Amino acid sequence: MSAKKFDKILVINSGSSSLKFTLFNVSSKTVLAKGLVERVGTPNANLVYQRNNEPKTERGIAAENHGKALAMACKMLADPETGVIKSLKEVNAIGHRVVHGAEEFSDSVLITEDVKTGIKRCADLAPLHNPANLDGVVACETVFPNTPNVAVFDTAFHQSMPRHAYMYAIPQKFYDEYRIRKYGFHGTSHKFVMLAAAEFLKKPVEELKLITCHLGNGSSIAAIKGGKVLDTSMGMTPLAGLIMGTRCGDIDPAIIFFLARKGISADEIDNALNKRSGLMGINGIESGDMRDTVNAATQGKAAAENALHMFGHRTAFYIGGYYTLMGGADAIIFTGGIGENSAPARQMIVSRLEAIGCKLDDAKNKATAGKTGVITTDASKLPAIVIPTDEELMIARETLRVLSETTKSTK
Ligand code: ADP
Repeated sequence: MSAKKFDKILVINSGSSSLKFTLFNVSSKTVLAKGLVERVGTPNANLVYQRNNEPKTERGIAAENHGKALAMACKMLADPETGVIKSLKEVNAIGHRVVHGAEEFSDSVLITEDVKTGIKRCADLAPLHNPANLDGVVACETVFPNTPNVAVFDTAFHQSMPRHAYMYAIPQKFYDEYRIRKYGFHGTSHKFVMLAAAEFLKKPVEELKLITCHLGNGSSIAAIKGGKVLDTSMGMTPLAGLIMGTRCGDIDPAIIFFLARKGISADEIDNALNKRSGLMGINGIESGDMRDTVNAATQGKAAAENALHMFGHRTAFYIGGYYTLMGGADAIIFTGGIGENSAPARQMIVSRLEAIGCKLDDAKNKATAGKTGVITTDASKLPAIVIPTDEELMIARETLRVLSETTKSTK
């Protein structure tokens, strides 16, 4: 089978109450259409749809489950008025975002019954995400009965981490019995920008040491040496590491027992650390959004200014550590909503990195938003580069790769 066989690839990101879809034409490298069904399973489900780069349309639909949501999305894709394909048979393959692959999946994989069972086994580690991701797979199997499905895991790229980086210094039996270890997340994005950075720097990934910073509502950093992850900042869950929109990142674990002994329940602590911490917890305006934080700091709010410094301090701390552990670095990459767009947030980080040869060029930093560009001075030993991520495109590419390899191996 030639690559042409997999020309149109549908990418599905199925959440507990949402279903995002993007239809790619792989050979022309274009997005044909994309959209989102929100509030799946409620009477207020809503379909947002956008063809090529035309304006978005939005309307209420009946979508009591993911199957119905997908069927409605597909109706738009193949409709003579709104569609971009004549028949659903034109969709050659489907790529699914799956959050947790634990140690079972270190690469993207063609979905079989065994793979679905494996994804279910990993649900223990991502109880909100993996079952919802599987709902998307099952919906596709019904609507597209003869089309191959591929799972692309957020954790897979980080499976290349060495044992000394992923183990926690807690009793071994917790790892043996409960699989407690660092897994890392945003792997699809870290891999996408690694490949894009290699192209930009005109060097193969095998020869590069990169520090990739995915900074969005959720944020993580990865140290990538020769195409393999040496370490990453998220842990067994996406709560660890950097200061995020509403998540605390690293804290002293004893704070949790202290709060529990004050009578606060596990659920309340979980909620506070995941949904009311990070920028939201500290910036004095109760918003987890970086733009709001920067605006408040600009207006002189001391708490917001301190929040930006905490964010910069923690992020620079990780970058410095990874720089040392890799024996230097070729580039620092910024991506994600904040990394791509927020010059003030990047300034908070890069201004702390002069000791490792990374000096901000203020004008370049301010001029760079949503596009690839170097934001450090020409004399910097270590450049910082903004590279927009595209997780959907990465899933489409992974789907194509897995299917091409599967076809080759069965020839
Ligand atoms: P998610 O992790 O949910 O995918 P995003 O990657 O979209 O989140 O990042 C959201 C963050 O990016 C928010 O804090 C938001 O303020 C910030 N952001 C998005 N666009 C801009 C912009 N144009 N300027 C500054 N910050 C931005």
